[in-house]
Amino acid sequence: MFSYRHAFHAGNHGDVLKHIVLLATLKHLLSKDAAVMVVDTHAGAGLYRLDGDYAEQSAEAQTGIHPLVAALRPGRTAPDAAQAAAQTAPPASTELIEQYLDAVAHFNRPGDWRIYPGSPFLAHSLLRESARDRLKLFELHPSDIKALAGNIAQLEAGRQITVTRGDGFEGLAPLLPPPSRRALVLIDPSYEIKTDYGRVPTTLQDSLKRFATGTYAIWYPIIPRAEAHDLPRRLKTMANRAGRPWLHATLAIGQAPAASPVPGEGRARPGLTASGMFLINPPHTLAAALRTTLPVLLSILARGRGQGWLVETSNN
Ligand code: SAM
Repeated sequence: MFSYRHAFHAGNHGDVLKHIVLLATLKHLLSKDAAVMVVDTHAGAGLYRLDGDYAEQSAEAQTGIHPLVAALRPGRTAPDAAQAAAQTAPPASTELIEQYLDAVAHFNRPGDWRIYPGSPFLAHSLLRESARDRLKLFELHPSDIKALAGNIAQLEAGRQITVTRGDGFEGLAPLLPPPSRRALVLIDPSYEIKTDYGRVPTTLQDSLKRFATGTYAIWYPIIPRAEAHDLPRRLKTMANRAGRPWLHATLAIGQAPAASPVPGEGRARPGLTASGMFLINPPHTLAAALRTTLPVLLSILARGRGQGWLVETSNN
């Protein structure tokens, strides 16, 4: 346990999918005046350096944020790529991708993409002080919780943000339902231990009993492992039984043409090629928005065999 460090993966295609969905969902929730509570049960370190040792070693941003920037942000980039992306099989929209790139750019100097904000910072960037929105963060890793607490302290956000060193699965229950009865819960485990696959549905089942109308967003890796394969199916069954709407979106960038050695490791490591987001009580606008966004994302990030995207909902 505890060998997972998100710094190795920051800005990869999984983060891109997760953070685009996170921002779009939160923005929708914030369109009403009532206070919103955001819970990030697995917060990570909060901020990552894409030019730091961890990120450079894994080079995973090259499967996500880096090609997006190259395609859609002029400067270091070929404007043709932006046009090509926007012209991907209609209907196509870059709106959610632009919103995401704007949010990431906010943490960097103009034209510079060295800092990658994780989910706590992306969520916080949208929260409203005046509405008394709240952000509740949980992290277990001894180093990452220190980094997270230090990074969050710099925001001087006071009572708006609570950072807890502890188990996010366990920490969620006492927070539900929030006084305003509006909340977004992001559950983004590392799936480093097999039991995470079971704890996700168990935690959600309990959460839905406490707070059936909350919006829940779960990220998961699509890997050849029975538990990972079963997870979306279990979540669909659970949401259907609870009578709650759901949305399932996946993005598969496919295999790199030839697995190349990871710098510093001297051996081929294929890495993650696909991931999914499962939402319970999603914004009603999200499925349509993702159906126009994921084709554009894929046109930029796709690498080869196995590539594809999917958006399915309970009312398909
Ligand atoms: N949500 C972050 C983001 O999008 O920027 C990334 C989180 S990373 C995928 C998962 C994190 O969960 C790791 O930092 C890991 O140390 C932490 N973790 C693992 N088990 C945990 C648990 N039971 N409760 C809280 N955090 C946990």
